[in-house]
Amino acid sequence: MARAGHVFEVENPCREAVLAQVTRFDADDVDQAVASARRAFDTGGWPRASATARGRVLLALAAKVREQAGDLARWETRQVGKPIRDAINEVHAAASCFEFYAGAANKVYGHTIPVSAAGLDFTERIPLGVVALIVPWNFPLLIAAWKVAPALAAGNVVLVKPASYTPLTALLLGRLGTEAGLPAGVLTIVPGPGAEVGERLIEDRRVDKVAFTGETTTGTRILQLAAPQIKRVSLELGGKSPTLVFPGVDLDRVAALAVQSAYGNAGQDCCARSRIAVDRDIYDEFVEAFCRHVRALHVGDPEDPATELGPLVSGPHRERVMRHVTRGIADGAELLVGGSTEGLPDRGYYLAPTALGAAEARMDIVREEIFGPVTTIQRFASEQEAIEMANDTVYGLSGSVFSRDGGQALRVARQLRAGVVSVNSIKSVHIEAPFGGFKQSGLGRELGMEAMELYTELRNIFIEVD
Ligand code: NDP
Repeated sequence: MARAGHVFEVENPCREAVLAQVTRFDADDVDQAVASARRAFDTGGWPRASATARGRVLLALAAKVREQAGDLARWETRQVGKPIRDAINEVHAAASCFEFYAGAANKVYGHTIPVSAAGLDFTERIPLGVVALIVPWNFPLLIAAWKVAPALAAGNVVLVKPASYTPLTALLLGRLGTEAGLPAGVLTIVPGPGAEVGERLIEDRRVDKVAFTGETTTGTRILQLAAPQIKRVSLELGGKSPTLVFPGVDLDRVAALAVQSAYGNAGQDCCARSRIAVDRDIYDEFVEAFCRHVRALHVGDPEDPATELGPLVSGPHRERVMRHVTRGIADGAELLVGGSTEGLPDRGYYLAPTALGAAEARMDIVREEIFGPVTTIQRFASEQEAIEMANDTVYGLSGSVFSRDGGQALRVARQLRAGVVSVNSIKSVHIEAPFGGFKQSGLGRELGMEAMELYTELRNIFIEVD
């Protein structure tokens, strides 16, 4: 729909070649998109349709996503560089998300409240209006679905700003939305640079809410821009999540899971357990098992179904990750495995899965989110020290505790300052359960019925009966 005719290029990070050209929205395009979204909300049928009717359209959209799963997964793999088998799972998870919120649409209830005055007092949840959803490049379709599905289910009108590295599957989702029966202007994709398109959306007074997933520094900027209007904002930000390993567990199994959680999506995952802390008595044995599993990872062409680890999303990002590794080694960490591009395909932004041992809390590599296939391993001497290590971060998104002692597992899990904790597991995300971070990992909870609160206002009505 952009009039200006400007485009930007999307690269395939595996081939280091241009994959597509996408319309780059300019100020007028954004203005028009917001105007048409505002009209759709103020006068259109979507917010006024019954919640059940909205649910039916979302169910149709879920079916379209499943029908097109092969194509969507291929484009996701090509634009992010993620292994095709992960991309297929993510597309189906996106469809499941639409199915969940199709069912949730007519289950958003208010309360009746026994107030002192003579009358009936009740609450209702109503849509916020026009919402801008700004999504990152690591799970482009899935994270778009986490936001689009509850926002539409609640009756809002939606503008999606995809990441510039990865706009293609969001554009396909927009097309599928129209085919599924969403009225014109209800779901619009607005590609273009975050600093221009994203900021215009945030500052536009016709936009009622911004939901964002991305870096903590960008989240800070968004809060600042939204502050003058007291605009509704929800944020899913960075993480530096720990895995704690206590004695007595099956070390081989735990090492295999720790590898999966650290290197899935090449570590470009806000929930990646990139800080591992192990009881000092089992440290050596754990490190041996962990490195064995890392070496067994199949790194290669993401379109090959056998591949477990593809390239990073871009050349500059790989450079950034490499700088972290170099700095970690200079600070005294021990390179256990990886750390280079040796033996990897010549073309593509690959980096070998990397682990640094003897890591210490003072090191930047332990403190900063790296967002690549890099893990640090620390030793602890007691349960208390393990908890302190886990919480010694500005982030608080997720974490895993591995212990055979049920009391210990629960005791530790409940002391972690993180929004999503798994015990003897690396699973962080369940569509049915709330997801989000403590501290600088975010504001608000996505997924579950909690997401319906992110996309509604609460109104209280009192009816006098005297
Ligand atoms: P960024 O913050 O760089 O970008 C995210 C999105 O915001 C992109 O669409 C980007 O557009 C846009 N954007 C950038 N600058 C602005 C701005 N000034 N105003 C408005 N929008 C802007 O994050 P990344 O894409 O690099 O994503 C990685 C980050 O996301 C990591 O920190 C990761 O931890 C976090 N993340 C958090 C999750 C969570 O649930 N907590 C889940 C997944 C990721 P453009 O691409 O055009 O720059």
